[in-house]
Amino acid sequence: MWSTQVAIIGAGPSGLLLSQLLQRSGIASIVLERQSRTHVEARIRAGLLEWTSVELLLEAGVGERMIREGLVHDGFEVAWADTHHRIDLKGLAGRSMLVYGQSEIERDLAEARAAEPGAVVWEACDVALSDWDAPRPRVTYTHRSVREEIRCDFIAGCDGFHGVSRASVPPDRLTAYERVYPFGWLGVLADVPPLSDELVYANHERGFALCSMRSRGRSRYYVQCPLEDTVEQWTDERFWSELRARLPRHYAARLVTGPSLEKSIAPLRSFVTEPMRFGQLFLVGDAAHIVPPTGAKGLNLAVADVRVLWRGLVEFYGSRSTQLLDEYSARALQRVWKATRFSWWFTTLMHRFSEDRFAHRLQLAELDYLAQSSAAACSLAENYVGLGFEPGRCQE
Ligand SMILES: Cc1cc2nc3c(=O)[nH]c(=O)nc-3n(C[C@H](O)[C@H](O)[C@H](O)COP(=O)(O)OP(=O)(O)OC[C@H]3O[C@@H](n4cnc5c(N)ncnc54)[C@H](O)[C@@H]3O)c2cc1C
Repeated sequence: MWSTQVAIIGAGPSGLLLSQLLQRSGIASIVLERQSRTHVEARIRAGLLEWTSVELLLEAGVGERMIREGLVHDGFEVAWADTHHRIDLKGLAGRSMLVYGQSEIERDLAEARAAEPGAVVWEACDVALSDWDAPRPRVTYTHRSVREEIRCDFIAGCDGFHGVSRASVPPDRLTAYERVYPFGWLGVLADVPPLSDELVYANHERGFALCSMRSRGRSRYYVQCPLEDTVEQWTDERFWSELRARLPRHYAARLVTGPSLEKSIAPLRSFVTEPMRFGQLFLVGDAAHIVPPTGAKGLNLAVADVRVLWRGLVEFYGSRSTQLLDEYSARALQRVWKATRFSWWFTTLMHRFSEDRFAHRLQLAELDYLAQSSAAACSLAENYVGLGFEPGRCQE
């Protein structure tokens, strides 16, 4: 039997970051991850960091490569009806974003945690949580065919939407709010120069498209697709032709195409669980909430949860005060619901939901308003860079 202060389920960005911050604060933890380290580091997911996320990664001591290789973005383009408008994030909301792939963050964090032998147990199977309502919870798991047990003070459920942590809570102890969107995103990663220096979000009659990037030589592009589509139905040629068709002409003309390195389809969903704490068990990141990726909020919300929980644990082990831990759920959910609203709004504005021509004309009117009203653009900008704990510049 092992003993630690905090047992962390899941070595995604939230689990590894929490473990790293705790270690630097002198608090012991063990992370249990069901996948291998190679698998986790290879997953292609988010790529856009709010500045508060950048700051926390720096505070965790894993920001050196991120600052060296990440791309600072001061704005992005919104395109529709063969026109486009730049949202000046820096000018309107006073903050920039950083392009740095989630797989790179995972690599940096896994590297840092590897310095402490036993801090992360990769390929831990059949993880089970018990006594999380009691003062010393237990986590059991199988590693290399041996059943192991950890006794701890707290459990951090950082195991994503399909994890075991939220599933361990009896359904009558939580309330789930959900919206499933009637389409998915087909994503392609390719070693071609990005379409533009900044991201381009396109609303088109054929459906939404996003031109994003991971570096100056690696692009990440998406098109809205039917939920029932499979990757096999989308040859590279079909993907590039569809993406080109959804962009304003001058952008379409300069799109550079190439063989895809990765291609996947992700469904879009909004989901929030309340509360985010059950006794000694805290849900963190995607284990508690999911947003559609349109607003680039999923990873940033996970990092924000980690910040609140980490501070609560530091306060508890420093002074035995449970005040911040007691406030964890309410504080995290305040931010989560604002990001959920923004992600839903931006998704609704940019995607084709049906053949409803009235709804499409309303989208065009709103986009036009966005281009003409600095108040509307400001609202988009301050939500996009992340509603911090202090008021945004737009409110001054
Ligand atoms: C395909 C895809 C694309 C995405 N694209 C974007 C994007 O463009 N922009 C954006 O902002 N967000 C995006 N997201 C969301 C973003 O990646 C997540 O919000 C972020 O990964 C949340 O981090 P997390 O650590 O909370 O959860 P996760 O990253 O899901 O990590 C959870 C970890 O727990 C492990 N785990 C699960 N169950 C168990 C178990 N029973 N036992 C042990 N370990 C377990 C998993 O293997 C995983 O490593 C995307 C997500 C997906 C799935």
